[in-house]
Amino acid sequence: MLFRISDVTTNSNESATHARLRDEYLRDDRPWVVAYSGGKDSTALLQQVYKLVLELGSRAGKPIHIIASDTKVEAPIVEDYLAASLSAIELHAREHAPSISVHHVQPEPDQTFWTNLIGRGYPPPTRSFRWCTTKIKIRPARRIIEDIAKRYGSVLLLLGTRSAESSSRSQRMEARETNDRGLNPHHEIPNALVFTPIAEWSNDEVWDYLFRNNPAPWGTRHDDMLELYRQANGGECPVVLDLNTPSCGGSRFGCWTCTVVRQDRSMQGFIATGDEWMRPLAEFRDTLKVWRERPEMRESKRRSGEIGPGPFTLAARQQILEALFQVESEVRRKLIDDEELQCIQYHWQREGDATQSALRLAKRYGRIVSEGGQFSMDNLNRELIAELASEYEIQEAWIEELLYLVDQKYPTLAQRGARPALNEDVRFVVEKAVQQEDIAAAP
Ligand code: SF4
Repeated sequence: MLFRISDVTTNSNESATHARLRDEYLRDDRPWVVAYSGGKDSTALLQQVYKLVLELGSRAGKPIHIIASDTKVEAPIVEDYLAASLSAIELHAREHAPSISVHHVQPEPDQTFWTNLIGRGYPPPTRSFRWCTTKIKIRPARRIIEDIAKRYGSVLLLLGTRSAESSSRSQRMEARETNDRGLNPHHEIPNALVFTPIAEWSNDEVWDYLFRNNPAPWGTRHDDMLELYRQANGGECPVVLDLNTPSCGGSRFGCWTCTVVRQDRSMQGFIATGDEWMRPLAEFRDTLKVWRERPEMRESKRRSGEIGPGPFTLAARQQILEALFQVESEVRRKLIDDEELQCIQYHWQREGDATQSALRLAKRYGRIVSEGGQFSMDNLNRELIAELASEYEIQEAWIEELLYLVDQKYPTLAQRGARPALNEDVRFVVEKAVQQEDIAAAP
């Protein structure tokens, strides 16, 4: 990557952008939302916004929300870099720029990559079935922007998008309808105007700016970011707000699990330049691609009922979860969190797994999944029991008794005589239930 020191103190676009930002800032009270991915373009943008706020001092009252997206499957070193820079910004802003707040948004536990892939059995994404972008990137970021827009009536969304990035992006940017201030309404987020202050900057101008303005106003140096670019050999994944964003699933920083790309060049770059410890992650991603193509690991029907490769079978999902735990132990880093495991268990239970096998598997790998919260087993069991009881028109108590047998009394059938004893107990519960129903139905 070319990275040279300019012999001028500002580039021509820089002064114009600064003036434009200042003008826009002072024009009204509309809050700003700055989409920040930790990549060079959004860093250059955020840095100028931050500088302006510091310059304005006590006149800077407009709320500025920095939103960054954590898909929970980011490449670990990118995730660490983003988390560290967000906490530095937050800490600095608390004291020096209190109108600025930071939001690191994540998908809901029931909508994460793992819950969908391992819990519901979605196949790893492809170009034609890229289910993940909406669930793990677009929705979480949009939810918070929509909340802010609702709270204040409208919002100005600042993006580090540049026309020079690609010709298709440039065409899209040109095609957008702009108002007389050069802003355009977001085509999907109500009451959000889009402002792209560095649209005209070239790649070199961005690097040049970052090099001359190092450290950032919040105190951290850009060295770690430069190192990431050097390792990954260029490219970045911006905050994705709609499906038109081309870099999601391209050969850029993105999810380490991304099976849309043929080769994950950034991950290969990280490994080749010293982060050998991430190799098991790359291998796991490759394995997912292989397993996706194995008919025996897929249901023979789609969820729609159509004949064709459907979701992963329950056995395949168990195999994937086990492989993920193995990778976790190899890289010594948590790759899936407790709430996701509870959601996965919930989906498996709905498909007939009455023995909490996801949680048992977790335990085997030293993961004690905490109970409690929205996705506690108690809550999930209650919901599931109520659904089954209404579907089969039986009392919830009988389902609870049957669950008790398989879950508590006979957690394993390995012991001699356990299977006939379980059959006998099940027969007893069913007979009792039938007798009671008869008594209740008697005239
Ligand atoms: S980077 Fe790949 S896995 Fe991640 S959201 Fe985009 S398409 Fe999906």
